[in-house]
Parts: sequence; C-alpha cells; structure tokens
Amino acid sequence: MRVAALVLALMTIVADVHSQVTKRPFGKTPDGTAVDLYVLKSGGLEAHIITYGGIVQTLKVPDKSGKSADVALGFDSLDGYLHNTPYLGAIIGRYGNRIAGGKFTLDGKTYQIPRNNGTNALHGGTTGFDKAVWKAKEIPHGVELTHVSPDGDQGFPGTLTTVVRYTLVGKDLKIEYSATTDKDTVLNLTNHTYFNLAGQGSGDILQNLVKINASRYTPVDANLIPTGELAPVGGTPFDFRKPTAVGARIEADNDQLKKGQGYDHNWVLDSSGGKLAAAAEVYEPSTGRVLQVLTDQPGVQFYTGNFLDGTITGKDGKVYKRRFGLCLETQHFPDSPNHPKFPSTELKPGQKYHTVTIYRFSAR
Ligand code: BGC
Repeated sequence: MRVAALVLALMTIVADVHSQVTKRPFGKTPDGTAVDLYVLKSGGLEAHIITYGGIVQTLKVPDKSGKSADVALGFDSLDGYLHNTPYLGAIIGRYGNRIAGGKFTLDGKTYQIPRNNGTNALHGGTTGFDKAVWKAKEIPHGVELTHVSPDGDQGFPGTLTTVVRYTLVGKDLKIEYSATTDKDTVLNLTNHTYFNLAGQGSGDILQNLVKINASRYTPVDANLIPTGELAPVGGTPFDFRKPTAVGARIEADNDQLKKGQGYDHNWVLDSSGGKLAAAAEVYEPSTGRVLQVLTDQPGVQFYTGNFLDGTITGKDGKVYKRRFGLCLETQHFPDSPNHPKFPSTELKPGQKYHTVTIYRFSAR
C-alpha cells in the first residue's frame, strides 16, 4: 500500500511538472470588457482558451514524428471572433444546434428564441454563450469558466448558472459542463471546435478517416430539423462504424447529404449517453494524428465545414475554404424540446446538469 501511495505521489509530481497554466490579456470587447487567454500545457500538447465565448483558440498537437501543429481553426486576435465567426472553437449555449421556428413549449408555456438561422434558432439564438465574456479562474491543469445567463436571456426561461472546466492532462483536453437553473428550462451545451488534424488552414478534411460509434442517426428535413426518425446508418453514406474517409461518399446521390450540403447531422451514439464512452475517432493519414472523442452525451453532430466558403481569413493568414475543418459536437439531439421521444433536455431547479466530453490526441 505504502509503495502504491508513493508511486501515486511521484506520478502526480511528474504530471504537475509537465502541466502548467499561464494567462495573458487577449484584448477588449467593444464595451471595454477585458478578455484573457489561458495557456494549458501537458507534455507536447498545448490548448489556448479565451474567456470570450470560452473559445478553444489554439490546439497544438505533435504528429507521428513529434512535429507540432495547431489543429484548431480560429483567429489570431479577438477582433476576428467579434465579427461574424461560424462559432469557431466556441462553447455553445443555451441550446446547441437548431430549435424549429425558435419555438418550444415547456410546462404549458410557449417560448420564442430569436430565429437566427432561416426560420430556426441556431446555437442559442442571436447572442448565445459563444459571445459572452466568461468569468475565469485558474484550476489545477486548467481553467474554470462561469457565466450567469439571466431569466429570459434569448427567450429561455430561468436564471442559468453555467460552469465549464477545461483541463489538459496527459493527452486529454477534458471539457466538463455543469449548470443549475432557478426555473424549469431546456439546455444543450457543446463545444464547436473545427479540427483539422493536418494543421489549421492546410487543406480540406476529406482524406481524414472517421469512425463514429453509432448505428443510427437523426435524418433532417429541408430546414435541417430532425424528422423525429432514428434511421439506421447501415447501407448509407452515414455508416461510419468502420473508419471511412470523409470524402469517400460525401458527394453521393443521397437526399440527406444534399440537405446538409455534406455531413451536418446528429448521430445517435450506441452508448446512448449517461456514462463516458468512446463516441468517435478521426485519423489524419499524412501526419498520423488521431483525435478520439469520448462523451456521456447521447449524440454527436458531425459537421464537415460545408458552409465555410473562403470568406474567412483565420490564424496565420490562412483562408478557411469549404470543408477545411470538421466538428464533432457532443450533444443532445437537435430540436429535442419539440420531440418528446428524444432524450429530455429539461433541467429543473434543484437538479444539476453535468456532462463530460474528452478530446484525446495522439499520433501513430
Ligand atoms: C450546424 C451547422 C452550422 C454550423 C456553424 C453546426 O453545428 O449543424 O449547420 O452551419 O454549426 O454554424
């Protein structure tokens, strides 16, 4: 026992030596609020988190030869994030993905969220959590972000206190989301990092091999709202149960792919949520980098950057063209408040919302 305790203590010390957190200013919002950037380090890995939007601004990951590259799309300065970004790296709240018509009914009362995506509400409405300046404090191996969203914010009921903890330990970027409310509400938090494991801005992600541990997905209508069906992936371009190149079937003659202009769908994870399980894996053949996604959420939105169109110039002067990044947004299913048969996204006073997603990096 004593030996085991000693080994554990030594391991903790070694881990601490290799892991450190530093902070520096990252500009001010137009109303003068200061934004900070936290640098998390673990071995050869580095994650930069900014307090604006809780954004993952940089993710440095070594390749199979040890060469590091930044694998997250983003901007060099706050200014880029303030102007019309497609949620690069951001925390999404209160409701990840779409709510049909921006409308839902809870306890007999109808709520209206701003329609910021055609007729739908997308990613929490016009001013979602991606645009909030979060309060931050350093924690061991990471940063803890807190945001209090007032009752009625973007039309959602209840004062919602959300805490997001980013930590970088070993090869894991862990995101832990917690929230409490003072009125019945709905909630679906996620992170919207666009990954390009060959390096941000280096090209499209069509050669990446993707595996998603899901036998079903939620097909959508023309507005990208789930029809309610949980359709089998077998025999369709949505079957990623074996590692498959993103580009292998993305242009197939398939009604769902046409609707999403590529992959922009929610997969129903076989693990079905509740406890942390492997959800997806991405392998980038030229660099050998691997991203594993683990989550306790029931779904994952696999989005292949179909709406990136070359109008954004990101870090290091890199232009982000169509499919230059992919997102694996762990989540509850889109539009769940309007689908009683989907796992519930309701949160009540006295309950604690708590969910964990891990982005695990390696190379082979
Ligand atoms: C959605 C896409 C959307 C993108 C960026 C994804 O989560 O599914 O349809 O274009 O976010 O806004």
